Amino acid sequence: MPLILDGKKVAESLYQKLLLELSMLPVVPKIVFLLVGEDPASQTYVRSKGKKCQDMGLLSETQLLPVTVTEEELVGRIQALNKDKSVHGILVQLPLPAGINKQRVLREIDPRKDVDGLHPENQGRLFQGEPRFIPCTPAGIVEILRFYSIPIEGSKVTVVGRSEIVGKPAAQLMLMNNATVQICHSKTKDLARETSAADILIVAIGKPKFVTKEMVKEGATVIDVGIHRVDGKIVGDVDFENVSQRAGAITPVPGGVGPMTIAMLMKNVTQAASLRE
Ligand code: NDP
Repeated sequence: MPLILDGKKVAESLYQKLLLELSMLPVVPKIVFLLVGEDPASQTYVRSKGKKCQDMGLLSETQLLPVTVTEEELVGRIQALNKDKSVHGILVQLPLPAGINKQRVLREIDPRKDVDGLHPENQGRLFQGEPRFIPCTPAGIVEILRFYSIPIEGSKVTVVGRSEIVGKPAAQLMLMNNATVQICHSKTKDLARETSAADILIVAIGKPKFVTKEMVKEGATVIDVGIHRVDGKIVGDVDFENVSQRAGAITPVPGGVGPMTIAMLMKNVTQAASLRE
């Protein structure tokens, strides 16, 4: 059996450190979630983030907007939150309904309140090696690897997926940690050849159980970002049972990257409040 990389355990250890940091802050950090429409997965994500804020003693508020909201109305809401001194973090839950320009909306968030790390200023800082807020999922992946002392420096890392929220920043973080990095995507030729070269394989494709053991090097570390509900069960982008026969270490789904995404959001909100004080 491979080493199971337990994201809940890593998150717990991070929460202990954060609670100490929070106890020393002169303010209670506050985050506002903007949730547009009624997508059930988005509702669940926002609920779990809000619940974790409550557990950690952070303030959170969810503002619900109808699916018919206009881009201008949404931007107006963001501008009001930018001005509100009691709000330290703003998170626009993605995806947004068709017809709303996501890039423009994200650009309107004050970069010092952009706790998801998606504002171009924060993305630019990350790519220049001077990050302020790092997108939560890739930041969580680095924490998992560090917690389990899996060496990144000098390793060959393959990231499958090139989204702004996971793939690209994950690759950049691995590069910053001195890995040799390649990014694969839907146009990659012979994906299995590329993935089997990796010491660390990070998979963020959005296709259930897509990665099989034939695509993984013996003893590799496999990080599965995917989340899907299939026949009432939550599964990842990696075929866990099958890949476990070959991987040296692997994140389960659920209980791997997911809990770390929320933990890193709590870290970013705490950081947003401390930046302001
Ligand atoms: P996107 O849909 O934005 O990106 C998917 C990427 O995978 C694209 O770059 C796409 O390539 C690539 N891809 C798709 N099909 C293939 C293929 N057959 N071979 C190689 N590459 C392929 O997804 P996200 O990055 O937003 O999310 C990925 C997964 O992670 C989803 O399941 C999502 O639910 C989950 N997720 C989980 C989080 C967590 O907290 N655990 C947080 C965020 C996301 P191309 O660019 O060429 O189209």
